[in-house]
Amino acid sequence: MNNQCLFCGIVAGSVPHVKVAEDETTYAFMDINPGSNGHLLVIPKRHSKDLFEISPEDLAAVTLAAQRIAKSAVEVFEADGINLLNCCGADAWQTVFHFHLHVIPRYIDKTKDRLVLPWQPGTLGDPDLIETLGSKLATSLDRQLSTTMES
Ligand code: AMP
Ligand code: ZN
Repeated sequence: MNNQCLFCGIVAGSVPHVKVAEDETTYAFMDINPGSNGHLLVIPKRHSKDLFEISPEDLAAVTLAAQRIAKSAVEVFEADGINLLNCCGADAWQTVFHFHLHVIPRYIDKTKDRLVLPWQPGTLGDPDLIETLGSKLATSLDRQLSTTMES
């Protein structure tokens, strides 16, 4: 538990919130500033800052809880789809530094849904840049794997 952390305060019950579910490892509650009707957050009870810091066990538990809750949300809210979103780093829109997955029900009915895509689907990227970046990443991952196998 991090005393400075808003979401640790939610898990501890010292910050008012609307609880949705909890298990041994995870906690889910409604987002105070929802992008759509039913927008909620799933977090690990144990504090970790972001995607890079969270343990594999907590990440797996949060993801499975998000899947379970997303299925119910679609049924209960009669939603037309779901977005799962994680922001890692301030420049990637993270504002609360306790790992969380957004579960955002989506609706054809736009009176229930205020989300818009921040990029234009269907606009092709620069094929050379895509190839260069993909190869660079693949090479780095291959190198990482062989280092792990050597040690
Ligand atoms: P992110 O920008 O990905 O870090 O998301 C943080 C989310 O936490 C935002 O969607 C906020 O609306 C939400 N949030 C901030 N404070 C609270 C709170 N006290 N209760 C519920 N949700 C909150
Ligand atoms: Zn925390």
